[in-house]
Amino acid sequence: MLSNHSGFQRLSQAALSRSRFLRLAAGALLPFVGLPPSAAAAKNPELAQNNGAPAAASGRMGAILVSQFGPVKIHSYLSPADGFHVNTQMIEGPTAVVIFDGQLLLPYAGEVASYVQALGKPVDRIILSHAHTDHWSGLQVLTERFPDARVLALDGVADQLRARGQARLDSFRPIYGDRIATKVTIPTETITEGLQRIDGITYDFRRFVDAESDLQLAALLPEQKVLMAFDLVFSPNEHAFTLVDHFDHWIIILDQLKALQGYDTITIGHDRPVNRSAIDSTISYVKRAKEIHAASADAKTYSENLRAAFPDLQHAEWVDLSAKLLYAARR
Ligand SMILES: [Zn+2]
Repeated sequence: MLSNHSGFQRLSQAALSRSRFLRLAAGALLPFVGLPPSAAAAKNPELAQNNGAPAAASGRMGAILVSQFGPVKIHSYLSPADGFHVNTQMIEGPTAVVIFDGQLLLPYAGEVASYVQALGKPVDRIILSHAHTDHWSGLQVLTERFPDARVLALDGVADQLRARGQARLDSFRPIYGDRIATKVTIPTETITEGLQRIDGITYDFRRFVDAESDLQLAALLPEQKVLMAFDLVFSPNEHAFTLVDHFDHWIIILDQLKALQGYDTITIGHDRPVNRSAIDSTISYVKRAKEIHAASADAKTYSENLRAAFPDLQHAEWVDLSAKLLYAARR
């Protein structure tokens, strides 16, 4: 149970200002997709979670949440708001650690690296879930700190990064300066879909297209009954990113995830883990966004209407970013 949320509350420092967001959006076409911190805490009774060392004591900027399933621990690093509350998931098995996603900003990736090193087990591999910049920029730090780790992604992701990665970094640099990566880290291996055993842990890797991103990995841990959904599922307390017009197909995918039985712990790309009700809330959001998109002639109208439709969700300024990219892509 998520009995203590203080670690995540600590996260909500300086939210990116609206003007800063728009400046960023203006320069960065379809870059990253980040999301917000949320609510529906996982209700899995087997889940033991804590927030790690207090931030004040550790000096850590991000927050760590640990979920334990017998010998397997999932450590979730959640970045501060200016890093889009993006998660890095660290799966600690008996003898090694597997890292999923690398953060947007280098200092936060550095915190991830230091945290992993303190676990005292080698990093077997680093897996990138999709090609949005907030998930891979910090791989520069992780690959420097863990030079022996294999770096994998779905077939196609490396090509996307080769084609557009440097432009994305360049577009972020005016905002973030030297906190953004200086080079694109290209995954060197293709992840195999389907069942795979890594350090005694069974993973079921799935490939999804045309949802929040063009190409998205998800991973099931069937023994732990954990779904790592990344940016397919968003927090029920936050706006989702709607950067491209894949509304219908995204909903089809969410229905597929909903059909998975027993997976009531879902780790997501942004914010703390959720339970399966977050699939429903994401479906509702995407359906409403689709309707508003169909009825809105321009980005400004889309943004205003979507914000008005979900007045209680956090990070309304992220809707402006989605609108800008969504309508730019349409032209
Ligand atoms: Zn994201």
